[in-house]
Amino acid sequence: MGLRMLAPFVAPGLPGGEDDPKSVQRRRRVAMKYVNILEDINNQLPVPARIEFFKSSKAGGKAYQVAGGWLVRVPPPVDYETLFTGIHELGHTVNSHWRLSCLREYYAEMFAMQCFKRLNLPVTKDIESHHKWYMAFSLGQALNRGLKRVPAELKPYRKYLHKTEKLVCDGGSWKRISRYHAFVP
Ligand SMILES: [Zn+2]
Repeated sequence: MGLRMLAPFVAPGLPGGEDDPKSVQRRRRVAMKYVNILEDINNQLPVPARIEFFKSSKAGGKAYQVAGGWLVRVPPPVDYETLFTGIHELGHTVNSHWRLSCLREYYAEMFAMQCFKRLNLPVTKDIESHHKWYMAFSLGQALNRGLKRVPAELKPYRKYLHKTEKLVCDGGSWKRISRYHAFVP
């Protein structure tokens, strides 16, 4: 996830400050709201996943196919961005049949986008820019692995490939990176 909007700072010990029991309660209530949304969506899936929350500074999750269904490990949803991540992982459980991993990522993203739309939740600027970056990153990975034809779904993200350069370099060989550069408009 990108940068977060920070709430106005209130010093500890003052009403509304970090340690004010009322704001602790409020944060818990808000967090429960996001957890409930995630669980509601999960319960409507043909095969609901087992959801495990883990604390992480990076807002990524993972969906695992396990005996009898799916296990989804996600950071606890505490805002729209982390909720989106959680729904993205649920999206993998219903879009696992795509052969290309960049398409699996795309349809997981689309699943989360559709859920946000249906529930009238805001696709924040952070979500939008992370989405573009992530799609270009997934496409860059596929290109570095030798993908010849960019699927139509991913063509709109080619123009963001240059922004993923450093991350793509981590996984690919230099030779392939230069091929990938050929796609930069
Ligand atoms: Zn994913």
